[in-house]
Amino acid sequence: MLTIKDLCKQYHTGELTQTALDHVSLCLRDNEFVAILGPSGSGKTTLLNVIGGLDQYDSGDLIINGISTKQYKDKDWDSYRNHTIGFIFQSYNLIPHQTILANVELALTISGVSREERTRRAKQALTQVGLGEQSHKLPNQLSGGQMQRVAIARALVNDPDILLADEPTGALDSETSIQVMDLLKQVAKEKLVVMVTHNPELAHMYANRIVNLKDGVIVSDSNPVSFKEEKPVHKNLGKTSMNFLTALMLSFNNLKTKKARTILTSFAGSIGIIGIALILSISTGVNAYISSIEKETLSEYPLSIQSTGIDMSAMMGEPVKKNNSEVKVVDMMENMFSKIGSNDLKNLKAYIEEHKEINQYARAVEYDYGISPQIYANDQYGIRQVNPDATMKKLGMGTSSNSMMSSMMNTNVFYSLPSHASLYDDQYDVKAGHWPKNKNECVLVLSKKGGISDFMLYTLGLRDPAQLDQILKAFSEEKNIKVTTGKQGYRYNDLLGITFKVVNASSYYQYDDTYKVYKDKSNDTNYINSLVQNGSDLKIVGVVQPKESTNASMLAMGIYYPYSLATSTIKDARNSQIVKAQLENKNINVITGQSFNDQSQKSFDLSSMFQVDNNALKNAFQFDTSKVNISIPQM
Ligand code: ADP
Ligand code: MG
Repeated sequence: MLTIKDLCKQYHTGELTQTALDHVSLCLRDNEFVAILGPSGSGKTTLLNVIGGLDQYDSGDLIINGISTKQYKDKDWDSYRNHTIGFIFQSYNLIPHQTILANVELALTISGVSREERTRRAKQALTQVGLGEQSHKLPNQLSGGQMQRVAIARALVNDPDILLADEPTGALDSETSIQVMDLLKQVAKEKLVVMVTHNPELAHMYANRIVNLKDGVIVSDSNPVSFKEEKPVHKNLGKTSMNFLTALMLSFNNLKTKKARTILTSFAGSIGIIGIALILSISTGVNAYISSIEKETLSEYPLSIQSTGIDMSAMMGEPVKKNNSEVKVVDMMENMFSKIGSNDLKNLKAYIEEHKEINQYARAVEYDYGISPQIYANDQYGIRQVNPDATMKKLGMGTSSNSMMSSMMNTNVFYSLPSHASLYDDQYDVKAGHWPKNKNECVLVLSKKGGISDFMLYTLGLRDPAQLDQILKAFSEEKNIKVTTGKQGYRYNDLLGITFKVVNASSYYQYDDTYKVYKDKSNDTNYINSLVQNGSDLKIVGVVQPKESTNASMLAMGIYYPYSLATSTIKDARNSQIVKAQLENKNINVITGQSFNDQSQKSFDLSSMFQVDNNALKNAFQFDTSKVNISIPQM
């Protein structure tokens, strides 16, 4: 949506002041065909130029997708003109000694686009306007109507959101005018087209909205935007973990260009690039977007306080270059890691609970203890852990729960529902079954369009997980990845009733009487299998989908267990033998039987570096007793 608010523009020539736009307000939809009519000198061209950022306004505001342009700097206007706007003029403005293909190619502003890609896109745009066959001709070998169509192709090649045309048919006869109008009407199906014309007949025939201008004032508007439409659209910005295969493919394409040395370093590196790009796009674009609509919608966006935080703004600055022969270093890594701070969440929680008045301002206060229930599938494909998801581990990457990168590359399918049902239940239609009623029930949340990801099919046992292993193997060997997709649709009944098993993380450890330590049994398949078989059920009892009418929805696609499962996981851990034993004896590590002090000394012994027990190392991350100690909440 593009909004013009109380816009004024005057021209001063010598002593004379000419008012071109006089308090003009106008709202334009994302796709419609608007014709601006009016006598010569009424301000049509001025209005179009202001909309396109070719001319500055004196006062008022031009608001693009809810964001004011009052603070726009030159580079913001450049970017807006280059990426959002396509222009068409009465006098085509083609470069005479260049072929029409070259004329269109020249407008491609996207940097980093290869020559072949530029040619491909330019040819595609020329085909779109019906001139695919003429691309080698010079402009003077074309008719007026054809030249105007080249100008339209040139305007479209960057795929702008808005097409502005100033008397595009002014120099054409009526027959070729019709061709151009047909084309613009076509374009207006998916873009905003604003056309200035002095031909009311053509305007009425083709445009779906006619705005009349006189002496810089709008005197009529055939289809104004209603107040209701004017509200800014807001999208769900909650969870944005990338679809796993998408992320994998993106990184993979990145890798193919280089000869990867080891999968670990290069894959991690390419994720870093994606991660940083995401951070940049979020912090530059979306922040401004949020701030413009925060008054209306802040209640829908959770304000979340985490145990660690990163000062993103510190990463955005560019150092000042002192002189031309110097290459300055951007302290990206240093900033990223040194700016991480810790929050005292324990005291914050106590404070919030003491000061009940916070409830006046918040719809709900939710606590997340970072608990990840150990969930297994037990189906025709055997017993396998599905939460926390181990896919990244198979690629040799750790899944430390607190790292920002891992949250972006999150491959987990299971999430906890918030403790307050009022936060989400009215945003979803229950398609089948019902919301979970106890900790043994879970719900499948579909995407807005009612789908689930292929990745989830492996979790649900609807697709053979061995296939995923093959994909990962092919990926790690830099082979091409072929996926046989199989069944593409499922009924709600195929999903209802799928049952997982939940086990207690502490039961991975068994007391060994001989050595008086707790032994880690998580690599003992038989032990795990019997654990899983005796585990508690977690059954899909409902399938829900975001309502058509909601813009913001709390729960992204995935499987959601009730909050009570997370809290009972904490209780079970607290009551488990190993945690009790550890809490009773804080100096001795109950897993190794050694004093914590001894261990820290030992880690300085270089030779121990060469005797690392990989399994012990891996398992250390599955159940960290010191963490349990910290996160036991007061319930
Ligand atoms: P239209 O396109 O409807 O014919 P314009 O937007 O070109 O009208 O012009 C609106 C008014 O502003 C006219 O009175 C015109 O003389 C004046 N104007 C437009 N551009 C300039 C300029 N660059 N310098 C001075 N006056 C201008
Ligand atoms: Mg004009």
